[in-house]
Amino acid sequence: DAELSALDPEIAARIDDELTRQRGGLEMIASENHTAVAVMQAQGSVLTNKYAEGYPGKRYYGGCEHVDVIEQLAIDRVKALFGAEFANVQPHSGAQANASVMHALIKPGDTIMGLNLAHGGHLTHGMKINFSGRLYNVIPYQVREEDHRIDMAEVERLAQEHKPQLIVAGWSAYARQLDFAEFRRIADSVGAYLMVDMAHFAGLVAAGLHPSPVPYAHVTTSTTHKTLAGPRGGIILTNDADIAKKINSAVFPGQQGGPLEHVIAGKAVAFKIAASAEFKERQERVLAGARILAERLVQPDVTAKGINVISGGTDVHLVLVDLRNCELDGQQAEDRLAEIDITVNRNAVPFDPRPPMVTSGLRIGTPALATRGFGEAAFAEVADIIAEALMADAGTDLSGLRSRVEALATAHPLYPSVANFG
Ligand code: PLP
Repeated sequence: DAELSALDPEIAARIDDELTRQRGGLEMIASENHTAVAVMQAQGSVLTNKYAEGYPGKRYYGGCEHVDVIEQLAIDRVKALFGAEFANVQPHSGAQANASVMHALIKPGDTIMGLNLAHGGHLTHGMKINFSGRLYNVIPYQVREEDHRIDMAEVERLAQEHKPQLIVAGWSAYARQLDFAEFRRIADSVGAYLMVDMAHFAGLVAAGLHPSPVPYAHVTTSTTHKTLAGPRGGIILTNDADIAKKINSAVFPGQQGGPLEHVIAGKAVAFKIAASAEFKERQERVLAGARILAERLVQPDVTAKGINVISGGTDVHLVLVDLRNCELDGQQAEDRLAEIDITVNRNAVPFDPRPPMVTSGLRIGTPALATRGFGEAAFAEVADIIAEALMADAGTDLSGLRSRVEALATAHPLYPSVANFG
């Protein structure tokens, strides 16, 4: 029963290093967050020891009386949070949630439509070497060149021409809201299922600050660790009893074996937090922060350097910086911000002339900083720091900017009541 630090000091020390990294810098990867200590306590518990193949009340293993209660609480809470009739909380990840839905509703060789990866879609929406691209005939749709918005007329034209069995709406890098009703109308017009993958914006939906796809989609999937701020994992929601049955058997035994009950307990805790007034207030700061950042990055001093914002702004928790006309490429811009302890990821932008490992874009998100307590004034300071860093000439001394980042990090302590996790 040795403590981690005694049994395995190498791992304990690296966990401490990671905590120090998270505390010292500003996390602005749009898909990341800082989950609650309570979520990590649930996740780091004895529940990890338990096999529980099956579902609450119908397990293939004994000793499930307590995990049954936990999983049922997670199900009930997520149903209430999103107003859904049925929920499966077992997917180990967002990718597995999406794989399970496709496994449940369509067959290999069927046609699916999804947003092109290069235009903001996810790997599981039909990328060539992902399972979705290997198993299904993929017809990607994309954004319009002039305003970087999804062209619904094009979605409809492609649907009419290719008669897909499934249409996927959702994104990993898109700064605007989707028209779920229109997606459903198009899906119905060709007899396709509509799956909405709300992984990125689920926290905003939970807070009532973004339209909900649940009333429109046949199936809604999500991760639980992005704006939703829970443990890493996936969920599947539907209002249709027949679809729910198919999905349960597609998750287990179709795609997975034993559920991760320790993660499911963490999900339950996260859903409880997400139903609170504090969570809503946090998501309001997420949106305000992204808007402040987008507004700063379209000021004339920034655009004069060839920097711009894809779609001209944002309705969500992220900003897509357009570097197509900038000397700085995505890799260099990511490195530049890393130098001042701001973590972001480079990201291809629509119609990107640079290769995918380099890219002409940055994806910058505000959820993790909002979790640390950032409000509008702090986000305005971050926006100025980012603008100044990106505008700087190569070789400029960035230590002044790094000190400003350090001051923000110190003023917004992360996990202040925790000495260390290692
Ligand atoms: N769906 C979307 C829209 C995503 O952005 C992501 C992850 O980035 C996923 C699914 C996959 O989630 P995971 O990484 O948990 O498999």
